[in-house]
Amino acid sequence: MSEHGPDLVVAGAGGGLIAALRAAQLGLDVLVVEASEHFLRGNNTSMCTAMVPGVNSRFQREQGIEDSVDLFAGDVERKTKGTGDQRLARALAGVSGELVEWMADEVGLEMSVMTDMHYPGHSVDRCHTIPERHGTALIDHLARKARSHPNIDILLPARLTDVELDADGRVCAAVVTDPSGNEERIETSAVLLATNGYGADKALVAEYMPEIAAAIYHGSETSRGDALRIGEKLGAATAFLDAYQGHGALAAKGATLLGWATIMHGAIMLDTTGHRFAKETSGYSEFGHYLAGRPGATGWVVYDRRVHDLCEPFTDFRQTVESGAEVWAEDAASLAAVTGLPEDAVVEELAESARAARGEIEDRFGREYEAPLEPPYAAVRVVPALFHTQGGLVVDGSARVVDADDRPIPGLYASGGAAAGISGHGAGGYLAGNGLLPAFGLAYLAATAVAETLDAAGAGAS
Ligand SMILES: Cc1cc2nc3c(=O)[nH]c(=O)nc-3n(C[C@H](O)[C@H](O)[C@H](O)COP(=O)(O)OP(=O)(O)OC[C@H]3O[C@@H](n4cnc5c(N)ncnc54)[C@H](O)[C@@H]3O)c2cc1C
Repeated sequence: MSEHGPDLVVAGAGGGLIAALRAAQLGLDVLVVEASEHFLRGNNTSMCTAMVPGVNSRFQREQGIEDSVDLFAGDVERKTKGTGDQRLARALAGVSGELVEWMADEVGLEMSVMTDMHYPGHSVDRCHTIPERHGTALIDHLARKARSHPNIDILLPARLTDVELDADGRVCAAVVTDPSGNEERIETSAVLLATNGYGADKALVAEYMPEIAAAIYHGSETSRGDALRIGEKLGAATAFLDAYQGHGALAAKGATLLGWATIMHGAIMLDTTGHRFAKETSGYSEFGHYLAGRPGATGWVVYDRRVHDLCEPFTDFRQTVESGAEVWAEDAASLAAVTGLPEDAVVEELAESARAARGEIEDRFGREYEAPLEPPYAAVRVVPALFHTQGGLVVDGSARVVDADDRPIPGLYASGGAAAGISGHGAGGYLAGNGLLPAFGLAYLAATAVAETLDAAGAGAS
């Protein structure tokens, strides 16, 4: 570390670790400050399914998948009904192919593009993942790499509580506070706010997204809105504060994620009246509040042996099965008995959806099916959940935090849940990957921008 402090302070060891590793690779000295000692099993990156969109990556090309920034931007436009931030969507799409290749080549993760399941809203398969398909393996690897890199120091538990600007309005210091309240001022010219959003702040959730406020919060307990408060104090613009990732398939029994692969492979969702209530393939995020609005705010995902077997590659799904949340029944009537749902409705819905899946009738919600469900049937009781918030500080295509006139605040960067994302308003604009793409993509862009700024300053000084 130089006598003037680190070149970059990264607040938050989730997606922020991508910035630390990228900046270190570019020769910068990095200090990561992390609020929680338990971040490896507590932050959102550790909880996730590890699906990272990568547009036009070599992994896609090897599979013959043609993708482009325009195609991705069009998907965002459609899913958000025209409200998603196109500047950011294009910047993230533009860097995402390079990002997933860098994660493989420089970070050493075993990346591949997932082709055995098609996420709703993506025109082509572009979600890249690791064999475990789980965030614990991802964060463990990133943290191991960061801890062993000579250019990276990690300070924890240490909560970023303030960022100071000099007389010219440039970042000059980060202030961190330990759990005993001791403050430390760290000189630096660049701070990345990678502290996630405000999902754990009940008052902000109730204010901005009341439709999901009563649901289970299944995200990091340290998402306390710190970036929002620090950024606003420094004059940052904010946007999309009502945006969030919800989910409609958290298993009620053990609060594990059943996962939407069940649905995409052909499962249906019934509410407590035994009836389907919406087009399941529209997306898992909006299904959070759809389910929240049904009687008792709960329902059952019903599938069969074929779907069960196809979901086995997902750690979350296996954990749900291991928790004992899955029940089996020989036929529709027994399924009604084992779930406690009205028999007539269950028999009718299974028969009707099978007819729609065989192409004999139009599905009444307009969905498509991979295949009809066949007995025996499995079912898991699910509840709605809030996973993380998607609104925050407005950033440009280099992850620089901007003010209300779109002027960057020099030295201040934001990524992931700290930044306003690309999901437009509410829950319905969320495309699979819209969490990790801004978390990893903006972190990667921020590190690159800091290195370029320091290079330019160095060149100017020489
Ligand atoms: C079950 C589940 C599955 C998901 N699956 C996917 C998926 O497959 N693909 C996808 O794109 N998204 C997914 N998401 C969303 C994704 O996990 C998040 O969008 C992403 O991980 C956010 O990254 P982040 O870096 O912003 O936050 P985090 O990973 O939460 O990291 C923020 C870190 O900052 C620390 N921190 C907080 N405040 C401070 C402070 N003041 N100072 C210092 N440190 C601080 C926290 O302790 C934390 O470690 C999923 C979410 C859940 C819950």
